[in-house]
Amino acid sequence: GPEYVRAIAPYQAGKPIAEVAREFGLDEANIVKLASNENPFGVPASSQQAMAAAVADLGRYPDANGFDLKAALAKRYEVPADWITLGNGSNDILEIAAHAFVQKGQAVVYSQYSFAVYALATQGVGARAIVVPAREYGHDLDAMAAAIDADTRLVFIANPNNPTGTFIPAAQIEAFLNKVPANVVVVLDEAYNEFLAPEHQFESAQWARKYPNLLVSRTFSKAYGLAGLRVGFAVAQPALTDLMNRIRQPFNVNSLAQAAAIAALNDKPFLEQGAKNNAAGYAQFVEAFDELGLQYVPSFGNFVLVKVGDDDGAGARINLALLKQGVIVRPVGNYGLPQWLRISIGLPAENAIFIAALKKALA
Ligand code: PMP
Repeated sequence: GPEYVRAIAPYQAGKPIAEVAREFGLDEANIVKLASNENPFGVPASSQQAMAAAVADLGRYPDANGFDLKAALAKRYEVPADWITLGNGSNDILEIAAHAFVQKGQAVVYSQYSFAVYALATQGVGARAIVVPAREYGHDLDAMAAAIDADTRLVFIANPNNPTGTFIPAAQIEAFLNKVPANVVVVLDEAYNEFLAPEHQFESAQWARKYPNLLVSRTFSKAYGLAGLRVGFAVAQPALTDLMNRIRQPFNVNSLAQAAAIAALNDKPFLEQGAKNNAAGYAQFVEAFDELGLQYVPSFGNFVLVKVGDDDGAGARINLALLKQGVIVRPVGNYGLPQWLRISIGLPAENAIFIAALKKALA
């Protein structure tokens, strides 16, 4: 295989519950998983009903162009349907973007401590990664703008960012977009957008009208509770979506996922319940971390990055101590944060189990 493919370090997903149960001799029912920023309420009932109705059609291929889902998204975001690209999760969108806009030898800019798939998508096309040092664990957009060189064709920005939870206000992103050359596509990855408080929300999808090089990426995996179905989407002008459509797999979003996503998109109470739970869970975590004297990065997502020790073995050590107690969180050593752990916000009872386990692990 190509040297640039062999150089890739595989994505490290959260440990599955069944694997932890086997490895540590635990009962699956007693395991709490707060490792993958999933929705603690699971699949919305509305999506479950939509999928049940769609099962009868599974003998047929999915709608290759996702007509109904794109129509629903176009309505929601007030853009023409051909401005939407569907993905097998938003990871697919990120990869399609790299394939559509970057060739071997060109460059991609992203931030230190930003989402792991940016590196994978960059390496996967044999491009050069320009990794810009983070500022206070978040994106340094001034430095990122300055880092764009003649070879750069793509910039990835995560807002809020995973794994650090940092947030960039609208004005800063606009200032950045105004500086970026027209031949550089900016992927604004808003996987955690729906967890933002109303005062932090902005009409990013509408910005695609003003910025022909902007691609806004969203997912149904987080706030909408459909991580296992793999469905995400992008909003951008047709010049960009046309190229992405040439490179994506023809049936990249399956029929059940399309049906479930339409239902979830219209399920406002489910989103509201999730946002409320998230805010309460965040307060629960912060109170515990303050009590324990642990440093954490203020988070705008459904997870918190917390520093569990001063030595580079701390993250792995506390992670193991948590696993032994049946609590799965995410070590972030692969992000260059070996003293930290990332904890997804769960239901109040799950959060409490994690906090009690953390206290034991630190004692
Ligand atoms: N972007 C960010 C910032 C993420 O944290 C994630 C999930 N880990 C994704 C994209 C991809 O999620 P999905 O493929 O499930 O949409």
